[in-house]
Amino acid sequence: MAVMPMTAYAAGTAFCTKCNRIQTVRLTYRYTDNNWHQCYVTCTVCHNIWDYGMSHEWSGTATCTSGRTCTECGGSSEPLGHDWGTWTQNSDEKTHTRICKRDTSHTETENCHGGTATCTAKAVCTVCGGEYGEMAAHSFTAEKAEAQYLKSAATCTEKAVYYKSCAVCGLSSEGTADEATFFSGNALDHDWGAWTSNEDGTHTRTCKRDASHTETNNCTGGTATCTAKAVCEVCKSEYGEKLPHDFTAETVDAKYLKSAATCTGKAIYYKSCAVCGLSSEGTADEVTFFSGNVLDHNWGAWTSNEDGTHTRTCTVDGCSAGTQTENCIDANKDHKC
Ligand SMILES: [Zn+2]
Ligand SMILES: [Zn+2]
Ligand SMILES: [Zn+2]
Ligand SMILES: [Zn+2]
Ligand SMILES: [Zn+2]
Ligand SMILES: [Zn+2]
Ligand SMILES: [Zn+2]
Ligand SMILES: [Zn+2]
Repeated sequence: MAVMPMTAYAAGTAFCTKCNRIQTVRLTYRYTDNNWHQCYVTCTVCHNIWDYGMSHEWSGTATCTSGRTCTECGGSSEPLGHDWGTWTQNSDEKTHTRICKRDTSHTETENCHGGTATCTAKAVCTVCGGEYGEMAAHSFTAEKAEAQYLKSAATCTEKAVYYKSCAVCGLSSEGTADEATFFSGNALDHDWGAWTSNEDGTHTRTCKRDASHTETNNCTGGTATCTAKAVCEVCKSEYGEKLPHDFTAETVDAKYLKSAATCTGKAIYYKSCAVCGLSSEGTADEVTFFSGNVLDHNWGAWTSNEDGTHTRTCTVDGCSAGTQTENCIDANKDHKC
């Protein structure tokens, strides 16, 4: 409490040691401390001054913020100060308030503070013990390839995808504003079934994991002949065309006979396949060959033509060339040749 100015008061009477008699005096007071003030006495006759300490003459009632007032020196006693209750968090969950027990109109409010927020709990105010503020953001940096974080399993061609999770509390980032993913492991590759012929010169295999995954290639390998198509070395099915027959064989056999030898013509045979023996008869590449010699005519008897000639005729059916006419010789003149 500040020292109060000296205050003059009306006169009284007192014994002045200098005058050695009771004189009219003037009294002034000066605040010393919370307990005392100093009273100065001035003799109005000799102007002698003396002083002594004395208690304040308090009046009024002290409050939290103001003390009582001394009626003599004008000083004030120390105020009582507030008698605060405990800090209590307000419904805004941001501030806390304490109320004076002496006067509920005396309140003090400040922001909650202290403590440390985490991603799972708000900060706890070190003053009122209430939670306040926001939780800390999750730190979605952990890459844990665990079933609970799986977004999509690995496929034949894609790696597995997982959601990143909070490195602190393990929460998945799925569905959060900071959703993040990472790849893990390798693609599975296709699980191919066996190659199957498509009956069109190609073969196809299908993935056992996903029937929409197929692979188709041309059949290959094997050797075609004139009797069999090539067999694909992959799908083991026949494909392509047979080879053409090689109608170069000249085999004299009844089964290839086109026409037998006659008096005027050699026998004709169909050529056959040098590989498989098929006759070329009736094929686009039909081809024939002659074999052997023409047959001799099978002459009938000479017959006189009564003109000095005689004729004989071949008895083979259809032999138009088989007629022979000579002059009669009749060496023995018997009119018979
Ligand atoms: Zn006083
Ligand atoms: Zn108060
Ligand atoms: Zn607080
Ligand atoms: Zn977290
Ligand atoms: Zn597949
Ligand atoms: Zn094939
Ligand atoms: Zn053949
Ligand atoms: Zn003939």
